[in-house]
Amino acid sequence: MSREVYIDEDECIACGMCQDICPEVFKLDDAEMVAKVIKPQGGPEDLIQEAIDACPVSCIHWKE
Ligand code: SF4
Repeated sequence: MSREVYIDEDECIACGMCQDICPEVFKLDDAEMVAKVIKPQGGPEDLIQEAIDACPVSCIHWKE
């Protein structure tokens, strides 16, 4: 079973990096100025990990 991912929306600065890296999973909500997880298990784990590593405020996490 693939792992799920979530965004701490209080920390997100809506830079769009996660969406650029893995648009299957992350989408910027322009109205709320925050990124959302649209498919928690919806992407290749290596791309999700890349988004986690690229997030400038480190607010994307795996659910344990
Ligand atoms: S990379 Fe991080 S700060 Fe940037 S939009 Fe995604 S969750 Fe928000």
